[in-house]
Amino acid sequence: MGNTTNIAIPAGGLLAIELLEDAGFEAWCVGGFVRDSIRRAPVHDLDIASSAPWQDAARVFRRAGLAVHETGTAFGTVTVIAGGSPIEVTTFRADGGYRDSRHPETVAFVGSIDEDLARRDFTINAMAWHPTRGLRDPFGGLRDLEAGLIRAVGVPAQRFAEDALRILRGIRFASELGFSIEGETLAAMQAHACSLGAISVERVFSELDRMLCGDAAGSALLACPEAVAAVIPEVGAMAGCPQNTPYHIYDVLGHTARVVDGSPATSLSRWSALLHDVGKPACRTTDAAGRDHFKGHAHVGARIAHDVLARLKAPTKLREEAHLLVSYHEWFMPPTETAVLRALRKLDGRVDLFRALLALQVADSLAKAPGITERLEAARATQGILEEVIARGAPFTLAQLAVNGGDLIAAGWQPGPELGQTLAQLLDAVIDGELENSRETLLAYALTHRLT
Ligand code: ATP
Ligand code: MG
Repeated sequence: MGNTTNIAIPAGGLLAIELLEDAGFEAWCVGGFVRDSIRRAPVHDLDIASSAPWQDAARVFRRAGLAVHETGTAFGTVTVIAGGSPIEVTTFRADGGYRDSRHPETVAFVGSIDEDLARRDFTINAMAWHPTRGLRDPFGGLRDLEAGLIRAVGVPAQRFAEDALRILRGIRFASELGFSIEGETLAAMQAHACSLGAISVERVFSELDRMLCGDAAGSALLACPEAVAAVIPEVGAMAGCPQNTPYHIYDVLGHTARVVDGSPATSLSRWSALLHDVGKPACRTTDAAGRDHFKGHAHVGARIAHDVLARLKAPTKLREEAHLLVSYHEWFMPPTETAVLRALRKLDGRVDLFRALLALQVADSLAKAPGITERLEAARATQGILEEVIARGAPFTLAQLAVNGGDLIAAGWQPGPELGQTLAQLLDAVIDGELENSRETLLAYALTHRLT
């Protein structure tokens, strides 16, 4: 074997390989399972490549009493349930372009594991593991895994010409694994980025989403901005957009990459970070002294963010919340309890959205010129107050008010819009610290002041 790698295959996988090989076929663990096992990272699914045509694989498994689902027979794939988990078993194949990153448009079945590995995208994804034969690594995947390199299998330009989605996959793996992209592979990614337009937006969104949520998203973004720009031209416009202000030391994209890295690794936070300043290129003006201004960029950017996410068919919730975060990202409130409660009220009580807004403001401030700390301190103080207010159960929604509509009707109010207005006024007075949130106080106040 010539290496010290050792991989534990789950019992179901061992059984599947043994059944296929006892029937005279060859079978190997492949792809992400091998990569992640060598990295000692959690593995989420097990794929097996085998010389058995799918009909034979299905027959062998069923004869052994295992359930088999014919999940992708056009591509030579069946799913066997072994050891309680689904395992995809695919016939050795070489293929043309990929339809949805797992299913190629055309397939040709081939005779050997090495030919099967040759069709895979990156060297780190093109290794096979066998319980007794050990590692099969014809493209130096182990070396690249150890060196932290994303390298295309074969001639990079050819591989990206076959399937442009591989460009985004490469950046996504670079981000998730914190790897660099090998020079020739990177040059080919940049050169072929323009063909990403032909890839379905669903696949683009899913790769970008995973890329953004990776640990090294910022450097992956800056490594190949051409790829993101090809699918989101509005992000392309941020590259090289100067910010000659005392607050900034990077161009808009450089600043943005740092905000992405400094934001929590959730879709909402990372997409909002990516797009928070997307309005800047369109809003940039330079005054007589040569200083740049970006008046209105949060508002303009919020609309662009919404359009971008709509075009990528992002989930509606993400689209709406990112729109809000981008439009409010410059909204700084005094770090007081009243301001926090009012903000919560304005955000319809969406605490997590408020948390995400403050996290964005912190990340945004940290990515500015050193010494620009006023907003950072304000946002951090507000975070502290928010958690205190939540822990204490201070009211910021009508549901938390000590009186409800029923109480007011019992006290003589008529049902209708005025009732809602009265409750809203009472909540405002509680938030502003004018009234105590108790039933007696609120009812007495409403009656004596004849609210509404
Ligand atoms: P993860 O599941 O974490 O995304 P993975 O490596 O398992 O990682 P999959 O998309 O599940 O990725 O694909 C399984 C394997 O199929 C990959 O490891 C790779 O060898 C191959 N593969 C997937 N998509 C492509 C593609 N577009 N071009 C070439 N090979 C691909
Ligand atoms: Mg996988």
